[in-house]
Amino acid sequence: MEERGNISIHTENIFPIIKKFLYSDHEIFLRELVSNAVDATQKLKRLGGIGEFTGEQGDLKVVVSVDKEAKTITITDRGIGMTAEEIKKYINQIAFSGATEFVERYKDQGGEKNQIIGQFGLGFYSAFMVANEVEIISKSFRDGTEPARWVCDGSTEFAITEATKEDRGTTIILHIAEDSEEFLETERVRTVLNKYCKFLPVEVEFEGQVINNPNPIWTKQPSELTDEDYKNFYKELYPFSEAPLFWIHLNVDYPFNLTGILYFPKIKNEFELQRNKIQLYSRQVFITDEVKDVVPEFLMLLHGVIDSPDIPLNVSRSFLQADANVKKINTYITKKVADKLNDIFKKDRETFEKNWADINVFIKYGMLSDDKFYEKAKDFVLLQNTEGKNHTFEEYKALTQANQTDKTEQLVLLYTTDADKQHAYVEAALNRGYDVLKLDTVIDSHFIGLLEQKLEKTTLKRVDSETIDKLIQKDDTKESVLNDTEKEEIKKVYEQAINNQHMQVEVAAMSPDDAPVVITMPEFMRRMKDMSRAGGGG
Ligand code: ADP
Ligand code: MG
Repeated sequence: MEERGNISIHTENIFPIIKKFLYSDHEIFLRELVSNAVDATQKLKRLGGIGEFTGEQGDLKVVVSVDKEAKTITITDRGIGMTAEEIKKYINQIAFSGATEFVERYKDQGGEKNQIIGQFGLGFYSAFMVANEVEIISKSFRDGTEPARWVCDGSTEFAITEATKEDRGTTIILHIAEDSEEFLETERVRTVLNKYCKFLPVEVEFEGQVINNPNPIWTKQPSELTDEDYKNFYKELYPFSEAPLFWIHLNVDYPFNLTGILYFPKIKNEFELQRNKIQLYSRQVFITDEVKDVVPEFLMLLHGVIDSPDIPLNVSRSFLQADANVKKINTYITKKVADKLNDIFKKDRETFEKNWADINVFIKYGMLSDDKFYEKAKDFVLLQNTEGKNHTFEEYKALTQANQTDKTEQLVLLYTTDADKQHAYVEAALNRGYDVLKLDTVIDSHFIGLLEQKLEKTTLKRVDSETIDKLIQKDDTKESVLNDTEKEEIKKVYEQAINNQHMQVEVAAMSPDDAPVVITMPEFMRRMKDMSRAGGGG
């Protein structure tokens, strides 16, 4: 026997749930209501475009206002409006998206691609997070329809009555609840509008001023834009930052839709790196500046904007990580960034080298954390030597191979982590005709390990880790100017003076130019120490 039925929802319980749990950010009610107003306006334009609306469009601004005395926030648009029937259909059904319905209905009618924002939240009902009563007064754009008024106090009961409204469009009035009176402060409202609505595609007016830029440059074609445009937009996003080094304009339609601009910021040192400077939008509505999972970890150091309607916004973090689109977006962004860097390197190596100090952290961090990025970056990552000359892996190999190969055919790359403190060792190596790399930042200590792992038949040695002649062992037959007994005696004296079992004392004195006594710490010991100092972080 089978029994079927409907699961019932006790709707009188739903508003407290909405209010308390659905969003921790109550402020997003404004995002939802203003984006509905924008949608209604875009729909009107769309219907105008296909001849279903033939009247005057007139001024299409969305107006937001606060009345502190009356304790209301009002949002007015001149979009398509709603009849009483439409209000019943669209508003009274929670979780039914009229936006989805509209897009479905008109998708085959040509014209512009989908501009409707629609659902990414609870939508209209988020109003009840801050209001204890909500009014809708609306007049449809269709001739011969009557205006209507809908009122609801947050219970499951609503009332619809006739209304007087001359103008086409919708006015939403929120009667702000006592615990949400912060939203009656104009500064608070302005801040929220600036956060979520700054780039909405229809003008939004608050306190007599348009608060948004309806045509941000990421929505345009790169060919329409100048360097100045990109720099000005950067200033608009981060008024207090130095000009960016360069940028990447993202623009894909398939297999997912994504636009945006990523900037390489100018950074003075590694400790200044700031994450979460990329802003995530969906159809020009700000969603979050937590882009983790959408952008690969190492690119979270970039700045800019990503806009994609294909990133699911209502799911938990773990779902986001597993989402197929999000994975594709992640891969796409990584590839774009690598391609751009490669492009600059190939076309303008001088600029690339000039900016190396600022970009090397991204590149090394990327190579360390993402194999695919490593594969691309290995052709343009630069190794800088103590003379400040930059070489690619290939170039450096060619430069050092003849002189720095040991008796087992291994290429030995020498590096210094502190050119001042290790000065004597660097000098001695240079005197031998060896080249010494400068790998002296926190990220470099990890990068060294990666190089050893990735570069074939290559080892890296810190220039002071052994006596110069042992760094690159070519043969065993070098003669010292001292005999063995003399060496032993000198060694003993130094060992007693140092009294540290980790230090090695080597009395070499191979030639009169060298220091006769060299005190070193074995490479592995030193790396352990470096690592514990760097906190093992990555
Ligand atoms: P969504 O935007 O995803 O459709 P909402 O809950 O935000 O969901 O809105 C429900 C529906 O109510 C909308 O799709 C639209 O049909 C209607 N609506 C809401 N606000 C307005 C408005 N300002 N003008 C016209 N219709 C509106
Ligand atoms: Mg909506």
